[in-house]
Amino acid sequence: MSEQIPILAAGRVSENAKKTLDIVKKFVEERCIPADPIFAAQVDQGGNRWNHHPTVIDDLKKEAQKLGLWNMFLPKGHYKESPGFTNVEYGLMAEWLGKSRCASEAVNCAAPDTGNMEVLAKYGNDAQKKQWLKPLMDGEIRSAFLMTEPDIASSDATNIQLNMRKEGNDWILNGDKWWSSGAGDPRCKIYIVMGKSDPGNKDPYKQQSVILVPADTPGITINRMLSVYGYDDAPHGHGHLTFKNVRVPAANMVLGPGRGFEIIQGRLGPGRIHHCMRTIGAAEKALEWMLLRINDPRKATFGKQLKEHGVILEWVAKSRIEIDAARLVVLNAAMKVDDFGAKGALKEIGEAKVLVPTMGLTVIDRAVQSFGGAGVSQDTPLANMWANIRTLRLADGPDEVHLQQLGKNENKRGKAVTEHIQKQQAITKELFAKYNTSLSQPGPQSKL
Ligand SMILES: Cc1cc2nc3c(=O)[nH]c(=O)nc-3n(C[C@H](O)[C@H](O)[C@H](O)COP(=O)(O)OP(=O)(O)OC[C@H]3O[C@@H](n4cnc5c(N)ncnc54)[C@H](O)[C@@H]3O)c2cc1C
Repeated sequence: MSEQIPILAAGRVSENAKKTLDIVKKFVEERCIPADPIFAAQVDQGGNRWNHHPTVIDDLKKEAQKLGLWNMFLPKGHYKESPGFTNVEYGLMAEWLGKSRCASEAVNCAAPDTGNMEVLAKYGNDAQKKQWLKPLMDGEIRSAFLMTEPDIASSDATNIQLNMRKEGNDWILNGDKWWSSGAGDPRCKIYIVMGKSDPGNKDPYKQQSVILVPADTPGITINRMLSVYGYDDAPHGHGHLTFKNVRVPAANMVLGPGRGFEIIQGRLGPGRIHHCMRTIGAAEKALEWMLLRINDPRKATFGKQLKEHGVILEWVAKSRIEIDAARLVVLNAAMKVDDFGAKGALKEIGEAKVLVPTMGLTVIDRAVQSFGGAGVSQDTPLANMWANIRTLRLADGPDEVHLQQLGKNENKRGKAVTEHIQKQQAITKELFAKYNTSLSQPGPQSKL
């Protein structure tokens, strides 16, 4: 793999990262991808998909640790707990992880734990880190991030309503959360919860707080697990939870009351790059499956194998172009984060966040089509991959919200661009006069 690093990023990848990248590739291709069907079979064992986790993942974790593949997502320079890779270097590794259901968890780089560990490493105090960051970093427990709610439009986080009321040395939580990813797993021991602690604050961005809630706190009910196009994503899952008079010690507040926005904004930058690079990996996998199908000699139509039909080769070529182009967009964002932090890379992260899932869906859809009916069935990984990637157009904020922000920022140069074009038009007018000529088919410019 290290020899396939795009030339744009090559100078930014250390020898150690190149070596690790090769180990990641071998581990994913030879250990994780073959283990994915075992993972699925073990989830199914015993009739209840939510009371156990597949043991194959425990063995993969042990192997990964022996290979030195652990927590690579924590970027160097920012966290003392980091194994020492940049966002670009880890991004290249995440691409491989995206090819397997098991791989990210096997190397302790799975969402939402990665973002949650970053929150704890960045904003947690020593006691919070000891209690929750340490076991998460060791891969002993899992976690969930609870922001989205069923009764409001959550893509505008100022709408969040879960009520947080101070009573003595405790906070009392009341409200509903849904799409709480990871809440189904019996190993999920900690919820990072965003709620409204100061609804009267004049600043709408200072009304929210983030608090750490142990999953076994009395008053929490998991009402149901939500499905994604029919997939339950067990044992991880996406929970709909109710909080009824849930009492949490004030010491569990992260940073302090009213600082919830600061925390959620700090959480999302690198995580979006991880999702994007894993999606690039998924798209590569879809292309591989398409190549498998179109080269299958048993399956000819109208006297030709699929690879001999021009339109199919066009799908292959377009997929190659789109994946390679999207990878450059994500690596560019990762470089910007490495150099200027997530805040300095909002535009590039937003571009990648919108572009990559749509690209992934297009490539997967072509692969599905090349398989005919089998493409939408359980006989290939494609249908599940499509459902999974489709959610990325919603999760961490829907496309429209990011596009609105990108569009607003792009349009900030509207006035300057208008003046610039008007200046050029004035020069053109002078040139018409100088050369004593005019357009044979006058357009708007001829009115100058
Ligand atoms: C599989 C999956 C996993 C998730 N995991 C988590 C998790 O772990 N934790 C968590 O807290 N949340 C999670 N989410 C929730 C996700 O972040 C929200 O669904 C998302 O932020 C959108 O919020 P909403 O569903 O309330 O939609 P709404 O806010 O109601 O928005 C509905 C639609 O309105 C449109 N819209 C919104 N704003 C604009 C605008 N400005 N301009 C034009 N159109 C607009 C968009 O098309 C949007 O899809 C997950 C979601 C999914 C599907």
